[in-house]
Amino acid sequence: MAESVTVREVGPRDGLQMAKTMMSTGANQRWIGALVAAGVREIEVGSFVSPKKVPQMADSAVIVRSSLAFPGLHVVALVPNLRGAQDAYAAGAHRVSIPVSVSEGHSRSNVNRSPTEQVAEAGQVIEWLRDQERKVIVEAGCATAFGCSIDGIIPASAVVAIAEGLAEAGVDAIALADTVGYGNPAQVKAMIRAVRDAVGDKLQGLHLHDTMGLGIANAYAGLEEGIRHFDAALAGLGGCPFAPGASGNIVTEDLVFMLESMGFKTGIDLGCLIAARDLLHEGLPAEPMHGQTAKAGIPRTYAIAA
Ligand code: ZN
Repeated sequence: MAESVTVREVGPRDGLQMAKTMMSTGANQRWIGALVAAGVREIEVGSFVSPKKVPQMADSAVIVRSSLAFPGLHVVALVPNLRGAQDAYAAGAHRVSIPVSVSEGHSRSNVNRSPTEQVAEAGQVIEWLRDQERKVIVEAGCATAFGCSIDGIIPASAVVAIAEGLAEAGVDAIALADTVGYGNPAQVKAMIRAVRDAVGDKLQGLHLHDTMGLGIANAYAGLEEGIRHFDAALAGLGGCPFAPGASGNIVTEDLVFMLESMGFKTGIDLGCLIAARDLLHEGLPAEPMHGQTAKAGIPRTYAIAA
């Protein structure tokens, strides 16, 4: 049996928040439907932020609710604070992801709190969710873990300190995020080892951007270090409105191509995934679409993991 890797689609959140035009709620729902039809089992469908700050995410509660209709789909929402977590819970999200920036500058710009204050906010989210009837998985993403376009170099010790704080606060899972895409494979390996030494199995995911063209190489480095949970965005959409210079996420189609070619099982049908680009394009006709696999077509040598 091939080993499984979870590919979480974050285009409906990380992608749409950066798009120059708004995708209609209906088009978004059809796009998510196409992703599910391709076999995607975990999608970050929206973000419970102030619609004044990120107007593209204003319909997140509606999108979470409609996404719950897909059997077996793990519905994830980004929440920057307790209020967002309460709204995500009310909408029915299965998992919340809290961004905790290691960089002081990005943290202030993104959530208007210092990194330490944001760790405390994550603690409040965990405490509140603990008292609710329904279990919601709490994940924290250590943003700008591999460098920051505002603060520059981020030392590994700072990432480890934030990860330790999050583990103490009781998060279920920690992900390392290359928010601006400045990381390299050697750094990814070293960072995973340092953080894993501190928090063990709580470190589960990688969230990578392709600013310097090293996104897939960084994913491979993570894979070699035992990471089995990756974020990616269809057609490489994405970026951060509060991190200047950040470009798109790693391309879901290219990541699935690499993983399946290497013998890992993603459960995703690559042809159907490429077809889902049409629905993305219908919803956002002006948005540039990236990705080598879609451009080249699936090669005749491609065989999915059995
Ligand atoms: Zn991102």
